[in-house]
Amino acid sequence: MHHPIVVAVDGPAGSGKSSVSKAVAGRLGFGFLDTGAAYRALAWHVEALGVDTADEASVIAALESFAYRIGTDPSGYDVHVGDVDVTAAIREPHISQVVSRVARVPEVRRHLIALFRAIIAGERRDGIVVEGRDITTVVAPDAPVRILLTADEAVRMTRRSAEHADLPADAVGAQLRARDQADSKVVDFMHAAEGVITVDSTDLDFDGTVAAVIDVIRTAVPTADLMGEKR
Ligand code: C5P
Repeated sequence: MHHPIVVAVDGPAGSGKSSVSKAVAGRLGFGFLDTGAAYRALAWHVEALGVDTADEASVIAALESFAYRIGTDPSGYDVHVGDVDVTAAIREPHISQVVSRVARVPEVRRHLIALFRAIIAGERRDGIVVEGRDITTVVAPDAPVRILLTADEAVRMTRRSAEHADLPADAVGAQLRARDQADSKVVDFMHAAEGVITVDSTDLDFDGTVAAVIDVIRTAVPTADLMGEKR
């Protein structure tokens, strides 16, 4: 059976996890899995059903009709709930504001973790970069490469507000901090677990961060066939 090399990447909001992981996957010819997209899509689905994301029992009930699909192609992946393409909708600031409420429900986490493991096992490329909050510790604790991608809070806020140039920077910053606080009550993604390598991108630009992550992968799996790498 084919076993893809799993590169697990965790980190707080605004650390660049998603864009860096996607670029790393593209360079290595690996798949890419954005696990946050599933929690966001579930929050979207709960609201589409007209139920309150704060109501735990309704969130659990919504799992039954949650027909979630995501691709692992780093050069363009679509997120679907049933027939609806929610790729753009799940990035709305409103979803960012309510997503932590669904992510804190243990039943939700169990359900999505099983889904992530199935997607990872089904990856046909040589490897897959999986990013989120609990990948290094819960989803894939045995992954040969486990990375915590961090950056100082001020830098993360600046990066995130550049992505939302239409919104006031202080509001974006406050939202990011509130979300990290809520999320870190559920999983610790601010400190590296044993064996997890920290890549601090505070003083690195995007390309520098991608290169630093690829260095960690090369060191951890020197024998891996990274021939897919496009330089
Ligand atoms: O990474 P992203 O910001 O898209 O994640 C959205 C939300 O999904 C997080 O704020 C968190 O509540 C949840 N999440 C999680 N565990 C993961 C990935 C995301 O709880 N592995």
